[in-house]
Amino acid sequence: MKTNLLDFDLAGLTAYFAQIGEKPFRAKQVMRWMHHFGIADFDEMTDIAKSLREKLKAQAGVAVPRELIGQISEDGTRKWLLDVGTGNGIETVFIPEDDRGTLCISSQVGCALECTFCSTGRQGFNRNLSVAEIVGQLWWANKSLGRDPKGDRIISNVVMMGMGEPLANFDNVVTALNIMLDDHAYGLSRRRVTLSTSGLVPAMDRLREACPVALAVSLHAPNDALRDEIVPINKKYPLKDLMAACQRYLEMAPRDFVTFEYVMLDGVNDSLEHARQLIALTQDVPCKFNLIPFNPFPNSGYQRSSNDNIRRFRDTLIEASYIVTTRKTRGDDIDAACGQLAGQVQDKTKRQVRRLVEIKP
Ligand code: SAH
Ligand code: SF4
Repeated sequence: MKTNLLDFDLAGLTAYFAQIGEKPFRAKQVMRWMHHFGIADFDEMTDIAKSLREKLKAQAGVAVPRELIGQISEDGTRKWLLDVGTGNGIETVFIPEDDRGTLCISSQVGCALECTFCSTGRQGFNRNLSVAEIVGQLWWANKSLGRDPKGDRIISNVVMMGMGEPLANFDNVVTALNIMLDDHAYGLSRRRVTLSTSGLVPAMDRLREACPVALAVSLHAPNDALRDEIVPINKKYPLKDLMAACQRYLEMAPRDFVTFEYVMLDGVNDSLEHARQLIALTQDVPCKFNLIPFNPFPNSGYQRSSNDNIRRFRDTLIEASYIVTTRKTRGDDIDAACGQLAGQVQDKTKRQVRRLVEIKP
């Protein structure tokens, strides 16, 4: 099988070129062609000698996942369904905002962690995505979005909040992050790349050393009894350990706060007592809150909290001096929130285009 050069970050690509008897600067050149210019055909890499192009063609390729469908909604939100083989598709979502363009990327097909309110979790775990499949989502999105009139890229931010638990696919995710941050590739700022985790404590410590990027933690409950129930990984890494891991992470992080995500589930975790417990729990962790109204899916067994409850919950946090954003979905056809993306090709093609809008209170 041919080596897929999209699987390498610069260190890996340099090692590959050394192995085939080529100089390190070739790795930088090819990196730029693949990621900076979005070129997948060696013949278009014009400053590479023909003999090297032939050598590469014989043993390597630039294999991006196949695009199955690209969709665009009225408000500019875009989605791509990419083929990752064996009948599975993964979704990538682009959310344009006034001051930034954010791409939401998947890291696994399915997820093993079984959070009870998450449709990806309900599907179970299929497999990890390769580096090429993770970074291929950014490759595709950049290619289809093009550049703005100033020549800048449209995508300024990446969030690892699609399907899967990124820290459970650690090595591939870190290599993909390296590529996103590399000036020869996408050159994204560390502060503008956010990894969301349900709280795999040892892997959070490893990420801090390997590739510290902005961190979001899916909290969803203010005490262990409730979190054990809805985010079962909590039984392994309870809240006390998770809060300590957040504090350790912040020592190296590019941002000076953690974003806590909190899905608003009617009658489950949305009372004012829960908000007060949350304040006590997080008092020693510099943080912001992102409240996510639950996005329903068939047979979930949960309801979204009422707007009044969400507002009261938010206000309680704001009164305690927290910065809170509420991710707001509009209308019935809207449910593109990252984190509840499903993977089956058949399901996806039948779905409507959905919109996601984030508002600041
Ligand atoms: N596995 C990682 C990242 C993917 S999920 C994590 O759990 O953090 C991205 C976010 O969407 C998480 O906060 C997740 O809990 C949330 N989410 C999952 N299902 C949801 C649903 N049905 N409605 C709203 N948010 C959901
Ligand atoms: Fe996995 Fe995140 Fe869904 Fe939990 S919320 S099942 S960790 S994708």
